[in-house]
Amino acid sequence: MTNGEQRARDARGSINNEAEDGLRISEDRFRAFVMATSDVIYSMSPDWHEMRYLVGKGFISNTTDPNGAWLAQYIVPEDQPHVLATIEDAIRNKGAFELEHRVIRSDGTIGWTFSRAIPILNSQGEITEWFGAARDVTERKQREEYLLEADQRKDEFMAMLAHELRNPLAPMVNALALLQVANKDDSFLEKARAILERQVNALTRLVDDLLDMARVTSGQLDLRNERVELGIVVARALEAARPLIESRGHSVSVTLTERIEIDADPNRLQQILVNLLNNAAKYTNPRGRIEISAWLERQHAVISVKDTGIGIEPELLSKLFQPFTRGKRSAARSEGGLGLGLSITRRLVEMHAGTIEVKSTVGRGSDFVVKIPRQPASQAADRSG
Ligand code: ADP
Repeated sequence: MTNGEQRARDARGSINNEAEDGLRISEDRFRAFVMATSDVIYSMSPDWHEMRYLVGKGFISNTTDPNGAWLAQYIVPEDQPHVLATIEDAIRNKGAFELEHRVIRSDGTIGWTFSRAIPILNSQGEITEWFGAARDVTERKQREEYLLEADQRKDEFMAMLAHELRNPLAPMVNALALLQVANKDDSFLEKARAILERQVNALTRLVDDLLDMARVTSGQLDLRNERVELGIVVARALEAARPLIESRGHSVSVTLTERIEIDADPNRLQQILVNLLNNAAKYTNPRGRIEISAWLERQHAVISVKDTGIGIEPELLSKLFQPFTRGKRSAARSEGGLGLGLSITRRLVEMHAGTIEVKSTVGRGSDFVVKIPRQPASQAADRSG
């Protein structure tokens, strides 16, 4: 061997040593990473038929040799089709696999995992391996399921409660009507009757809100749409809200720029306006002003109910239309309700494909604006087409 050949050989040897050192360092780092994370770590063949290894972290059992039976071993049967479909998508797109699914844990019980794997591609862009990490999310899933069940039980309980409370109310209302006829001359009894009447009416309003909320959450509320003249509905709503408005000495003005006709359920539309008017009356100090205006804006009827009342705190505004939301001051007022009125109102507006918004400043009153399309979307399309 010449000196030149010897030098070339030495150089090759030193390059090989460096490459081996590099590989060893990167393998050490990889092993350290696998042990450091609390996630399950796994690697799959390009077509996912074979699991090459899995470090289960006590959550699921390890796979040390290539394993073709991983699907049956780790994934609960009901979730297998979904897992396979997500794998197919990921392989087709050469993109990440990402799924929350149930797994069979090392102790045989069922757990939940959030699993994510990415493909490793060679220089030709072909998948050579999948590398993945899976997190044990069993506790969070169990909490979610518990909350969902509790929420459903609460809805069922509310519906049952509303029905049970409504039953004794009807005969009480009838008995009051009888008392009114029977005791015209007895002022003591008349006073007692008037108290009962006010309280039964208040109770009826609360129970009706509960019943409506139960219908809304179970999807049992139907609209009976017809051609409706807005002015008539506004007048009826005002009639219904008048006792409360008058008892608090408010003045009311109505401004309708023109005759407005829309397709809507007149009773539900009236309910929307009565809710807004009653709130305006309740949350405005005595002798305030309530303004109802309605006008047309392109294909929408717009109705505004504005008051000079106590206004709404900014932190309340963002959740105003969610069930059981009540202001601190309103919760303390005897006329205050269950905090259901506005969420029912929004649901009714949305069933008409409309929107409801509110502008308010504390101490400076509130303005609730309802927008409802004059015709349902399908009819509008028919006419323009
Ligand atoms: P409820 O009146 O039964 O409490 P609502 O859903 O109708 O429930 O209203 C929710 C809360 O919004 C009320 O408790 C009150 O604090 C606030 N609110 C509603 N309307 C008005 C208004 N016009 N002015 C001031 N606050 C209002």
